Amino acid sequence: MNWFRKFMVGRYGVDQLSTALLIVSIFFSILSRFFNSGVLNILNMIILFIIFYRIFSKDIGRRYQENNKFLKIWYPIKNKVSSRIQRIKSLKDYRYYKCSNCKQKLRVPKGKGRIAITCPKCKMTMIKKS
Ligand SMILES: [Zn+2]
Repeated sequence: MNWFRKFMVGRYGVDQLSTALLIVSIFFSILSRFFNSGVLNILNMIILFIIFYRIFSKDIGRRYQENNKFLKIWYPIKNKVSSRIQRIKSLKDYRYYKCSNCKQKLRVPKGKGRIAITCPKCKMTMIKKS
């Protein structure tokens, strides 16, 4: 592996964008097998070429910027999805209300009967069933 380490000196290597492209490529290769599609196969080849090009690229600054652009799009999507999943998971233990005054999302534990909920933002109190 020593030759490989020497070969990789000054080259960009793997980043989140390459990993994402690899996942897309695996997805495409499964689809192209499934539909027996030459177009998908060619697309997959192009993606694989881009992945290798980026990993072995010596233009580190440019690859870094590409990855940053990708992360700027990817992180908000990832956060949104994970907060949705978190919310679905917590549905059995919590109930969600919206403050009738300021629309702030409020989370209260389930099964406590009728409770007074005070909005932490505007201090408005509502009586709700939990
Ligand atoms: Zn409020």
